[in-house]
Amino acid sequence: MSIKFERKAALYPGSFDPITNGHLDIIKRALNIFDYLVIAVAVNTDKKTLFTKEERIELITGAVRDLDGVEVTSFTGLTAEFAKSKGVKAIVRGLRMVSDFEYEFQMALMNRKLMPEADTIFLMPSEKYTYLSSSLIKDIGKYNGKIECFLPPNVVEALGKKFQIKNYRG
Ligand code: ADP
Repeated sequence: MSIKFERKAALYPGSFDPITNGHLDIIKRALNIFDYLVIAVAVNTDKKTLFTKEERIELITGAVRDLDGVEVTSFTGLTAEFAKSKGVKAIVRGLRMVSDFEYEFQMALMNRKLMPEADTIFLMPSEKYTYLSSSLIKDIGKYNGKIECFLPPNVVEALGKKFQIKNYRG
C-alpha cells in the first residue's frame, strides 16, 4: 500500500537577466519536489538589468512552456512579503559553488527572520552548470562568443537581437 502525501508550492525568486539552462535545471529539480512553482522576477530598481521586467517574464515563460505546474510573475520589495502574499512556505534557491554560499546563507536567515514559517531550500544544479551565470553569459554574448549551449533557444535569439541593436546604436 502506498501512502499519498500532499505536496506543496514553492517560490523561485531571482533576477533572471536572462534565464539560463542553470536556472532551468533548478526549476526542473524543484518540480520533482513541489507540485507548483512560482517563478518570480525580483525587480530591484537599483540594479541595472539588460532585459526589462516584461522581457525577462516573457523569456522565462517561453523557456518553461513545456513544464506543468509553473507560474511566471514578478514582484518588488521583500521576497518574504511576496512569499507570504502567495501563501508559499518554501523559497527555492540554486547553489552553484562555495562562493554562492555566504550570500545565500545570510539571505536565507534574514528571510526566516522576516517569515519564520518559511524555509529556503537549496538545490544544486548539474555539474555542467556550476560555472554558469547570467552575468557571464552577457559578457560572452557581448563579444559574440558561443553561448547557445547555455541558454534556452528563445533566450539565444533575444540576446542576439539585444546585442545587435546595441552594437548598431553604439
Ligand atoms: P539573484 O540576483 O537573485 O541572485 P539570479 O537570476 O542570478 O538572481 O539567480 C537566481 C537564483 O538562481 C540564485 O539562487 C542563483 O544562485 C541561482 N542560479 C543562477 N544561476 C544558476 C546556475 N547556473 N545553476 C544553479 N543555480 C543558479
